[in-house]
Amino acid sequence: MSGPLSVPFAALAVYVDSKWLKILFGLLAVICAVFASYWVWRRAQLRALELEEACRPKIEIVHVQDCQRCHGPHFPGDGSPLFQLEISNASANQSIRSINMAIEAISPQPTMTRGVLEYPINLADWEALNPSQPPLHCKLFSWDLHNNAFVFGPRPISCRAGEYTISVVAHATDTPARKATFIIKGDGLMWRLHQSGTGAD
Ligand SMILES: [Zn+2]
Repeated sequence: MSGPLSVPFAALAVYVDSKWLKILFGLLAVICAVFASYWVWRRAQLRALELEEACRPKIEIVHVQDCQRCHGPHFPGDGSPLFQLEISNASANQSIRSINMAIEAISPQPTMTRGVLEYPINLADWEALNPSQPPLHCKLFSWDLHNNAFVFGPRPISCRAGEYTISVVAHATDTPARKATFIIKGDGLMWRLHQSGTGAD
């Protein structure tokens, strides 16, 4: 159904003799015209939604198992296995400003071996993240092999190594906060970090 179709129907309505055919073609012309304008309106609405979605800055938080930086074997200094998160900008054309990355919660409650556990545990701050920029990396924790402890953040604080669920959040200016949940699981003699959830605040 389209606008141009309403033209021949309107013309037929004028030229046919039968009164009923006039009404029929007249109605068909009206229906085609209504559908055509609805279709134009709907296309414009969908396009506007697409543009709005594309322009909204979106923070993505992931851990990529086979990324050398996400899962590196050596934390600078002591050579501990390092677990990092990637933070990227999923928007097509908007920069994200003043990004703060922090741990909101760790469960179950870890047994601390150094420092005091206070949320949020600040992980990193960045001034800006542009759409085409490669992902930023920040340390979530490193595994101190000698003490079998997980060392969080730059402060640092540490707890006994074990299976934990870690909730992180990224806040930024003029951008909805982004949360993500990661699970630390034992895998033979190693620990692995798995992504469990992500979403808007
Ligand atoms: Zn990575």
